[in-house]
Amino acid sequence: MADPRKYPEITINPESIRQAIDARMNARLKMWMRICAHCGLCADTCHFYVAKDRDPKMVPSYKAQKLKEFVKKKGQVDEAYLKEIYDIAYGDCTVCRRCTMFCPFGIDMATMVATLRGILTSQGMAPEGLKAAIKNYQETGNQMAVSEEDWVETLKWMEEELQEELPGAVIPIDKKGAKIMYTVNAREPKFYPQDIQLAAKVFHVVGEDWTFPSKVGWDDTNLAMFAGDLKTAGYIVQLIRDAAEELQVQRVVITE
Ligand code: SF4
Ligand code: SF4
Repeated sequence: MADPRKYPEITINPESIRQAIDARMNARLKMWMRICAHCGLCADTCHFYVAKDRDPKMVPSYKAQKLKEFVKKKGQVDEAYLKEIYDIAYGDCTVCRRCTMFCPFGIDMATMVATLRGILTSQGMAPEGLKAAIKNYQETGNQMAVSEEDWVETLKWMEEELQEELPGAVIPIDKKGAKIMYTVNAREPKFYPQDIQLAAKVFHVVGEDWTFPSKVGWDDTNLAMFAGDLKTAGYIVQLIRDAAEELQVQRVVITE
């Protein structure tokens, strides 16, 4: 269960909830909501079910069927109900998709729970950390709100340190036509810049032709997906694609 002290502020707008549901209800979701045979084969595949003494509420199909129930309510919900959905969507499922691998119908419970998250996010209900990261992506193109100036300065700083060990090694920025555009987790320039230096060392030693983009498109994390915010998630991917096209690279390589 999510910590009740950390519920986001809730303002119930039935029409807005209805619209958010309608916008997400595609044929696949409708089919999955209908075909579950309640066979229970997915139960043991979920770590929450196993860890919580086989609580029936932790069975993946139970959690996924909450979407069906939510849709039926057509926005006529109260605060307690939204909190219950919030607990399931964020507290009882990591959206890992393990259960889907075992369902004979291939019902994607994770996508259904992610849809619940998306509907909640559309109503302003998401963990504060995720909301802050989404705002950062929208305003700066990366989850940690690293400015372009700080990003480039960090790369130069790491290059300088690297050259003390490997004279001639460089961290290329905006190199058009490079084979690889390398992207990182925005936490790297913010907290772990040495990780960038280590990757640069590997690229140098193997003689790789690579580059970083200087502006946006270098953060390969996508926390908007965790909140079911598909619009922002698509925007983040587009930034990477645009940078790769602009630099005319052959491939994008991501960290981790
Ligand atoms: S395995 Fe599939 S069909 Fe069976 S209960 Fe789970 S989701 Fe439903
Ligand atoms: S997707 Fe959710 S319900 Fe399915 S196994 Fe992972 S945590 Fe459990």
